[in-house]
This record gives sequence, structure tokens and C-alpha cells, in this order.
Amino acid sequence: MSKKKMEELSKKLKYENKNGWKASHAYTDKVFRFAERYKEFLGKCKTERETIEQVLTELDKKKNNKDFFLINRGKNIAIVRLGKENGMKLIASHIDAPRIDIKQNPLFEETEIALFHTHYYGGIKKYQWFNIPLALHGVIVKENLEKITVNIGENEDDPVFIIPDLLPHLSHNVIDEKKVKEAFDAEKMNLIVGSIPIDKEEKEAVKLHVLNILYEKYGIKEEDFISAELEIVPAMKPKDVGFDRGFIAAYAQDDRICAFCSKEAFFDAAKNSKTIVALMIDKEEIGSDGNTGAKSRFLMDVIIKILKAKGKEATLESVGEFLSSSEVLSADVNGAVNPMYKDVHEKDNASYINHGVVMTKFTGHGGKYMANDASAEFVGKIRKIFNDADVNWQTGELGKVDEGGGGTIAKYLASWNMDVIDCGPALLSMHSPYEISSKTDLFETYKAYKAFFEE
Ligand SMILES: [Zn+2]
Repeated sequence: MSKKKMEELSKKLKYENKNGWKASHAYTDKVFRFAERYKEFLGKCKTERETIEQVLTELDKKKNNKDFFLINRGKNIAIVRLGKENGMKLIASHIDAPRIDIKQNPLFEETEIALFHTHYYGGIKKYQWFNIPLALHGVIVKENLEKITVNIGENEDDPVFIIPDLLPHLSHNVIDEKKVKEAFDAEKMNLIVGSIPIDKEEKEAVKLHVLNILYEKYGIKEEDFISAELEIVPAMKPKDVGFDRGFIAAYAQDDRICAFCSKEAFFDAAKNSKTIVALMIDKEEIGSDGNTGAKSRFLMDVIIKILKAKGKEATLESVGEFLSSSEVLSADVNGAVNPMYKDVHEKDNASYINHGVVMTKFTGHGGKYMANDASAEFVGKIRKIFNDADVNWQTGELGKVDEGGGGTIAKYLASWNMDVIDCGPALLSMHSPYEISSKTDLFETYKAYKAFFEE
């Protein structure tokens, strides 16, 4: 065979996934403008509650008269646009992220420094949270049930909070010689919140000073912490990475990158045959439990509302028919190959940053345990939608078979008898306080979600 023939044959038969920049050169401006809006969104949305608030503000401006939405406890939202056909096209993302929560009785004083006890939330590498600037976000419910919103550490002139690390000179025995997993004690992840005593004589005068500042600012007393949800999150702002500004570094891109793309795709969808739903849920990082997690009944309430809006009665049968006709993208991120740690992946089935949105047929761990495993038919259908819309996509499995693994909400949604596949961009340094995404992947994810809604 001639060299030219061989090249043609290779091009025709071999599967290859492409670097998105090679295709998106034609519309780089659009990609960069989209990324600016995404960074602005991330800067405002540091918690699940703040994400809902932000989406509501945008809904106010962008909603068309066919859209409606449902909120669950300020932590879940479903945005709905009805379609003629039965069933829905659902894009489900999660808006909680790994972080540090404060304990219910948090404030104490040690060596004349006031600190908060903490309890980390989700899968973190503890050492990444020491000595970085942290902000405090959340709500405090007072004895009279008044709810106070807290947001300290984000403005230029705000103070920040820090979990103090130990100096290298003295960390030999207590940290350096230990296994990383054992070296960092969760009970030592305490947050500095004050250092000036209120009075010369008073015992625990620094703690009292902090309480007094909080009383003057918010009218709260120590017992009010017990009915508070205060989240400690990185105080860093989203930034471009690299001389060419191709990557974005920011906190909580897992999974607000998918939440952002799903709402943009929803607003921009020009047509839809099935009802389209952008769903944002909570508690994915801790197993999807609780009344705001994917295992809650909220989605059922959404379906009942949809059926009613279509003039149908919600019976066991009609709900069942609706669910089995529904298709879902479990919109979550994947772990991109880190060039320094390539060996935790199997190269032909790993996902690469810049190589487009990732379709993950199954998640879980070795032996496909705890996995949603999408059917060949459904994977084929999604693949066709993406190819027809010229979306840059890749397949991706999270690491080598027996290396580790991870789950998403896919399996909980699939248990309702819907077709579900995981689909989202791949991040570098996932679950770190400053995760890295690619601008071309961000845009391809948006394109993929829009094509899915419009099909
Ligand atoms: Zn996630």
C-alpha cells in the first residue's frame, strides 16, 4: 500500500481525540469571553447557597415565559422548560464542594490566640489547606430565628482566616517523618480568628474580644454558632494560568463548571422536543445523602410539577413512564492526566485537559463496583448528538482499574430507571483549594450540553 493510502486508511479507521485549541482557533475570542463570565460566576459563588442566589438573579433577567423553577431549602434548584414529548432531558450537576466546616461549638482560646474548631467536608488533602488565605461564608440562625448571612474574606480590605502550619524547623517528628495520611490531624486544623485581648485581667480575653466583635457586628452570642452553617473556603479569586492564559485556576470548579455550563446551555437552547431541566444539587461530595442530596425526593417533586404543568395527573404509572423516557447527563468533572503523575492512569482511557468534554460510561472503582454503567445504546446516542453538533469530546475513565476511583450522582439518578451518563470537563488538581480547568474544555462542555438540550 502506498504511504498516502495508509494515511487515508489510518485517518478513516483510527479513533483519535483532539486538542480543542486546534479546532477552536477559529473562535478563540468567543471562548475567552465565555471564560470571563465563568470566572465572574465562580468569584460570586463560593457556597451552594450563594450559587442558588446567583442563579436566581440571572433567572430574573433571562427567564422566558415558558420557564419555571423549583428551589429546595436554598440548596437545590431545578430550572424547567416544558417540551411536547414525554420524559425529560436532564442535566444534573452538584454545587457543593470540598471545604472546611466549623464545628457547632467552635470558638476556643489557646496560648492567647482565638481559634475555631473545624470539621472538613468532602474529600480533601488536608495539607493543602494550611497557611492559605481563607474566607468565611454562611448563615447563622439566631435564637429568635432571624437568619444572618456571613461573608468575610473576599473584599480587598477584609481580613482573612488561616489554619496555621508548623515551621519546618520543628516538624521533623510530628509531621515530616509520618505518612501523609497520618501526618495531618483533623483536630489540628483549627482556624485563627483573633489575637487581641479585650482586657488586661479577664481570663480568655481574646475569645471574649472575638465574641464582642461578632455581637457588635451581627448581634450574635456564642450559643448561636450551634445553629449556624459556616463554611471556610479559599479566599483566592479566579485567575488565568500561564503566559497564554489558556487555563483557569479557581476554587470549587468541581462542580460549578458543570452548573455554569448547564444554566448557560439552558438559557441558550433554541429548541427542545422533550422537557429540559437544569438541576443543581447538594451533598454530592459526602455521598448524596440528606434532604438536599441526589437521594432526596426533590427530583420527584420536580417531575410531579412537570406532569401537572403538562396537564397530566401524576400517578405511579405516569411518573414511571416519564422517568423511563428521560435522558440524563450526570454533569460532573473528571480527573485530567497530570503530566508529572501519568502512571496513575491507563493512557488510552484517560481524559486529557484541553481535549474536550469527557463522556464517562461508568464511574465507581475496581470491578465496576458502585457504578452507573451507561448502555451502549445510550452512549451511542450521546456520541451522535455530540458529533452532529461538532463538539470536541473524549472518553475518560478515572485512573487505572485498581488504582482508586470515585463516584458521582449518576448511579442514584439511574436507579430511577432513567438513562444516565457522566459528562463534564476534566480538571487538573481536582478537589484542591485552587483547581485548574481549560478554557476550550469549558466552552466545549457548554456546546455539548446545549446540543443535548436541543436534540
Ligand atoms: Zn464532582
